[in-house]
Amino acid sequence: MSRQSSRDTAAEVAVRRLLHAAGMRYRVNVPVPSMPRRVIDIVFTKAKIAVFIDGCFWHGCPEHATQPKTNAEWWRAKLDRNMARDVETTDHPDG
Ligand SMILES: [Zn+2]
Repeated sequence: MSRQSSRDTAAEVAVRRLLHAAGMRYRVNVPVPSMPRRVIDIVFTKAKIAVFIDGCFWHGCPEHATQPKTNAEWWRAKLDRNMARDVETTDHPDG
């Protein structure tokens, strides 16, 4: 499962619901400009704010991430790649 196939996660839906209730308007699942296959979870178009909702497991949260015991090496490599992508996406200058 990749970031692309995990759209509309429970966390994303919960955040959107709160924003919407607060009267905020936004777009969801917007491609990152000039970064193919990367998607911004929530965008406030006018303010030019991009929000990424990184799940604890898939994005290696320092507080809550867990390490699968089976295929441990494969998982470590996979999750390290995810985290490297997150850094790259966060560092991406513009839209
Ligand atoms: Zn966490």
